Amino acid sequence: MRKNIVAGNWKMNCDLAQTQALITDLKKGLVNDVNCELMIAPSHPFLYNAFNSTCDTVIEVVAQNVCEADSGAYTGEISVPMLQSIGIKTVIIGHSERRDTYGETDQLITAKTKAALDKGLRVIFCCGEHLEDRKAGNHFDTVTKQIELGLFDLTAAQMENVVVAYEPVWAIGTGETASPEQAQEMHAHLRSFIETKFGKETANNTSILYGGSVKPANAAEIFAKPDVDGGLVGGASLDGSSFLDIANAF
Ligand code: 13P
Repeated sequence: MRKNIVAGNWKMNCDLAQTQALITDLKKGLVNDVNCELMIAPSHPFLYNAFNSTCDTVIEVVAQNVCEADSGAYTGEISVPMLQSIGIKTVIIGHSERRDTYGETDQLITAKTKAALDKGLRVIFCCGEHLEDRKAGNHFDTVTKQIELGLFDLTAAQMENVVVAYEPVWAIGTGETASPEQAQEMHAHLRSFIETKFGKETANNTSILYGGSVKPANAAEIFAKPDVDGGLVGGASLDGSSFLDIANAF
C-alpha cells in the first residue's frame, strides 16, 4: 500500500549554522511518532552534515536535484553516485523552478529520472501546470504530458521507486493553495493515467504528494483527500514546528 509522506524542500535557504539549527528544532519537536515518512531536502553542501545529524531519527535527508551523468566534465553538477556515497537514497527531480529558471526540459528530466532509478535512488518526480494552462483548461493535458514524458519509459519495478509530486506552479510560494477538491481531482486523474501504463496495483501503490503553499492551517484538509498521500512543502518547512504540525496533520 502506498505511503504517506511529508517532505520539506528547503530550496536555496539555510547556511550550515541554519541547517543545523533547523535540524535541532526538528529533533526536539519529534517527541511523538508521526504517521508518515518525513523527509527534508537541505542544500547540497549541507547534505552530508544533515544526513549525519539525522541518522538516529525517522527523518530522511533527500537531495533537491541531481545530474543525469555519473561523472566527468559537468562543472557544478552532482551525480547519483556522489549522493549515494554520503547515504542519500532519494532525490527530487523536475521541480518547476528547475524547469522554468534553469531550462530543464522534459528530455533532461527523463534522463535524470532514469539515471537515479537505474542506480537505485528513489525519485520524487515533480509536475504541475502554470496559471495560463489552468485558465485555458489545459491543466490535465499539461500535467499528463509531463508524466508521460518523464515516467512512461520506466518499468513497473522502477515505478515502485517513484513518488509523484503535483505542484501547480501558481500555488508555489504564492500563498494561494489549490483547493482540496482541485488537488484531489488532479491526483485522481494522475493515478488513473498511471494505471493506463503500469496497471492498477502500481497506480494504487504510487504516493502522490501535493505541493504549493501547504501550511499547518490547510494540511489536514488537503491530506484528507483520498488520492493525496502527503505534501512537498517549501516555505513552511523552514520552520521546525510548522513542518511538524504539517506532518502531524495525518
Ligand atoms: P511553497 O510551499 O513555498 O509554496 O513551495 C512548494 C514547493 O515548491 C515545494 O517543492
